[in-house]
Amino acid sequence: MSDSVGVSRTLGEWAEVAGASPGTRLSAMAAGIAGSDILRVANEIRALQAAGRPVFDLTIGDFSPKQFKVPVGMARAIQDAVATGQTNYPPTNGLPELRAAVREMYARDLGLRYPEDAVTIASGGRALVYGFFRTVCDPGDRVVYGVPSWNNHHYTHTVGAHGVVLECRPEDRFLPTRAGLENALPGARLVCLNSPLNPSGTAIAEDTLRAICERILAENEARERRGERPLYLLYDQIYWPLAFEGTPHVTPPGLLPEMARYTVLVDGISKAFAATGLRVGWALGPTDVIRRMSAFLGHVGAWAPRPEQVGTIALLQDRTALEEHRAAFRRALGTRLRDLHAGLARLRAEGLPVECLPPMGAIYLAARFDVLGRLTPEGTVLAGNEELRRYLLEAAGFGVVGFEAFGARHLPGWFRLSVGAIGPEEIPEALPRLAAALRALR
Ligand code: PMP
Repeated sequence: MSDSVGVSRTLGEWAEVAGASPGTRLSAMAAGIAGSDILRVANEIRALQAAGRPVFDLTIGDFSPKQFKVPVGMARAIQDAVATGQTNYPPTNGLPELRAAVREMYARDLGLRYPEDAVTIASGGRALVYGFFRTVCDPGDRVVYGVPSWNNHHYTHTVGAHGVVLECRPEDRFLPTRAGLENALPGARLVCLNSPLNPSGTAIAEDTLRAICERILAENEARERRGERPLYLLYDQIYWPLAFEGTPHVTPPGLLPEMARYTVLVDGISKAFAATGLRVGWALGPTDVIRRMSAFLGHVGAWAPRPEQVGTIALLQDRTALEEHRAAFRRALGTRLRDLHAGLARLRAEGLPVECLPPMGAIYLAARFDVLGRLTPEGTVLAGNEELRRYLLEAAGFGVVGFEAFGARHLPGWFRLSVGAIGPEEIPEALPRLAAALRALR
């Protein structure tokens, strides 16, 4: 093959089209898609660590297997499933035993009694969130979500919807309020809520969720009278087993059963069982939506691998192991989050400009370093979160992710601190480094 000026190229050179204009070669969706900011920061940290620098890595929304292991029984059942040849396509909506085990767990632990066809299984929470967006949204539809939040902007973009963004505040635990939603709901197709919330670990209060659901039901009653399409709710509760004691986890259909007509619950093993690399998630919702979601995700091939479904069945059916794992996991995460919170509170008491919301669950803390506009010892102005993030990483080996990675531009100085990859003994080593870096600012 040769190009227009007659120069010979290899296949590899033809395949390298990095410089081409994306607008002409790609779909508008693909041309406009953005990679994950969080993964970019994680790569930076890996490079520092490889260079031998100590890094207190609070950046990844994942677990270090050294700190947090998947339940032993689940791991063994997965190995056995592979060894005994359970390696073929599973049914696209999941193994019936797994769907039954999920329904049973929801009835027992959350008081939610769903019919059989209201459950589907897929390869993790992401596939189900995307599948739900695809199933109810058309291009141009309005999708309402609060910021900071995880990835709603990416899913909204991929389906060509229009994002209606609510700027949430620390005094509301970074969650949408009824008042905040009031103006956004008319004309919207989908509202997205996540509790406990990535990136702050904060949970929605029962009265707030009830008020939001009442508003959604009232909106849908009016739409039904007018013959209009309903408003749906995505309730992403992937962190619910990690809500701490004293933080009751509430669900829309648990508060108002009629919400089952409009709500899809998304959940799975990735966060609750430190099993992010084993891909099993489930969604529960109105059967018409769930059936179409399964059909769509089947075409994508986004089903959960059969051995991992078998392992999840073993875990969910062993109630004792399940409870023990959940309790140990909450304890281990709680220790880290509470120690980190207490440490930051001490820095504040010493007069440093640090603020931190109390931990409520999941693996996250929201913290603010009120130093934007100050000068580093090298004379660089900390103009924005990105400069501050880099300074904390370079001066203190303190790795955090700014809230702008969660779509929030109105919260300068706020960061997500994730404890999934740290040991409790690292906290007293890292905080003095942070304090010194903050004290060095002018
Ligand atoms: N929802 C939330 C809020 C999350 O933080 C994540 C993962 N970061 C997911 C869903 C998706 O989880 P997975 O695809 O690993 O099951």
